[in-house]
Amino acid sequence: MSHYHPLSETEAVELAKSIKDVFTTEDPLACREIGDGNLNLVFRVTQPATGAGVIIKQALPYAKVVGESWPLTLDRARIESESLIIQGKLAPGLVPQVYKTDNDLALTVMEDLSDHVIMRRGLMEGGIYPKFVEDISEFMARTLFFTSDLGMNQQEKKGLVRSFSNPELCKITEDLIFDDPYIDSPNNSFDEHLREDAAQLWKDTELHLEAALLREKFLTQAQALLHGDLHTGSIFITPESTKVIDPEFAYYGPMGFDIGAVLANLLLNYAAQEHWSEDAAARKERRNYLIQSVHDIWTSFERKFRTLWNEHGVDRMSKTPGYQDIYIHRLLQDTFGFTGAKMIRRIVGLAHVADIDKIPDPEVRKKAQRMALSIGKTLMMSNRKAMSIQEMIDIAESAV
Ligand code: ADP
Ligand code: MG
Ligand code: MG
Ligand code: MG
Repeated sequence: MSHYHPLSETEAVELAKSIKDVFTTEDPLACREIGDGNLNLVFRVTQPATGAGVIIKQALPYAKVVGESWPLTLDRARIESESLIIQGKLAPGLVPQVYKTDNDLALTVMEDLSDHVIMRRGLMEGGIYPKFVEDISEFMARTLFFTSDLGMNQQEKKGLVRSFSNPELCKITEDLIFDDPYIDSPNNSFDEHLREDAAQLWKDTELHLEAALLREKFLTQAQALLHGDLHTGSIFITPESTKVIDPEFAYYGPMGFDIGAVLANLLLNYAAQEHWSEDAAARKERRNYLIQSVHDIWTSFERKFRTLWNEHGVDRMSKTPGYQDIYIHRLLQDTFGFTGAKMIRRIVGLAHVADIDKIPDPEVRKKAQRMALSIGKTLMMSNRKAMSIQEMIDIAESAV
């Protein structure tokens, strides 16, 4: 029988005490709930005397969305914990260490990363992260390659596909990213000054076709074990270190969805520089940094992924001449499409990004929103003919 209940802070402290590798003395522990409380509780338990700490993340059995609650499976805590463990093996040092999992209580006890900052916030504050390109391309190349039919036994992979089917969280993505932004859905939410732009999206039948094709990939292409929610709010960062958190949306899907999440969030911040940069010169420099990161993430990813494939391709057929080039080309095209779809939903759909929503001046905000929408639409419309990452850079730089 399940003994699930949301933990009290006292219970969180008791649980933390059992993590002997971290709390090596009997000094007292302090606890604070630091999550935003929409889907999950996040307890930070610290030991002031030693500076040691752990994080306990516990799933709640519902999601609070626009004032309402809808039931949401606790199984996502198992998915989060198991995928953190897989990612930690495949990409050492790039996710928090997992100390303990309790599937009945729907929780994971993990490494406290409070010395890092959430990358979205870091980017809004003008942070420069010299290791980010290497780390995130490494994370994606290794986790995606080694969970795909190219890098692991295909029979074992089918077991993982089943164990990570994650239907309820996938449904959130299917609705909020691929469906709602393209109709006048009650789930959408946007500034009134964007009504015309939103109405344009709702009648853009060519764009709807691209959304349907991208959704089809999301629904059917069990290519690799994705993180599933790889935006800059799921990345903890410092200039020396990158840690990916929050993989509760993990499932077997198209690789371009993860790559697109990273690139889309860099491009949303690019658009948001209308506000976050002080003047035209600073804006140009900041945008160059962001656009160079977009470029370099793709090229590093491609180089690493090809090397893994050449060295660890699992069978004869994976080494069929010509196959790798076609695969990478399709992946680039998927990346264009998913990058675009993820930008659009963050402007007119249910959940936005702080980079843009926190712009105080409505005129400036509108300019950033329109730029993001324009980049997103152009990327989606060009996805099936994209040939190189340079085209993504050109699209961003020519957007107004
Ligand atoms: P949710 O799925 O509810 O978005 P996250 O896993 O993104 O939960 O965590 C929410 C917040 O809790 C993060 O933005 C961060 O501030 C804090 N947090 C989560 N994991 C850690 C960690 N390992 N170390 C320090 N803080 C964390
Ligand atoms: Mg959150
Ligand atoms: Mg999160
Ligand atoms: Mg989450």
